[in-house]
Amino acid sequence: MRRILRRHPIPHHVWQSVTRRLLVLRGLDAVQLAHLRELTTWFLYKKAINGAQGMEVTLAMRVAVAAQACLLILNLDIDCFDNWVEVILYPGAFRVNHEQVDAIGLVHNDQIDLTGESWLRGPVVLSWDDVERDAYQSRPGHNVVLHEFAHKLDGLSGVTNGMPPLRRGMSRKRWAEDFNGAYDELCLQAASGRPTCINPYAATSPAEFFAVTSEYFFTAPEMLKSCYPGVHRQLTLFYQQAALR
Ligand SMILES: [Zn+2]
Repeated sequence: MRRILRRHPIPHHVWQSVTRRLLVLRGLDAVQLAHLRELTTWFLYKKAINGAQGMEVTLAMRVAVAAQACLLILNLDIDCFDNWVEVILYPGAFRVNHEQVDAIGLVHNDQIDLTGESWLRGPVVLSWDDVERDAYQSRPGHNVVLHEFAHKLDGLSGVTNGMPPLRRGMSRKRWAEDFNGAYDELCLQAASGRPTCINPYAATSPAEFFAVTSEYFFTAPEMLKSCYPGVHRQLTLFYQQAALR
């Protein structure tokens, strides 16, 4: 790590100009920012961030993605981001084929537009338009970078199901109780057509619920705490960032 930091530093003016504007980093103190800079340096050395559709990826863009991704692992082991090597940036939302099986077993192929996608053991794919909007405009509960990299943490167990490997001392039973209760409540709200407490996309699956509540944990923690205090408590233990919020 020390060798990487010495040989591949992020130029000070780039780090300053990018991180000063990233809303999600506002709560960090100088020591935490210094640690985040080390993790970001490591991330940029280890991971390729490539543009798709001819998009040119600047160092500032790479720092913006990496710094937000590394906020998730600020107090975790850096090997949480092992097992994959690439981030792909599209200029805007990108179209993918989506296969879905309906209630009677028929397979439907649709094309859908996505702002981000995270492959188990594969790349993270992001729409730069959306990365930029979430990074620099205040949109409580919305941050596509945090969302997709939270899926990476979830997938560390080998399956993306909303139950990432927990920290030492955490209880899987308590996690399941807090998350399942909140997820069921949200699904009921969404199904009844009532306004939902958080982004209803979280009701898609337990994996999406974990990724969306992670977005809230970092961008709108008070909102998460008032809707689902148990989930907020579990994420505080998981990310080990209680002091920041
Ligand atoms: Zn997702």
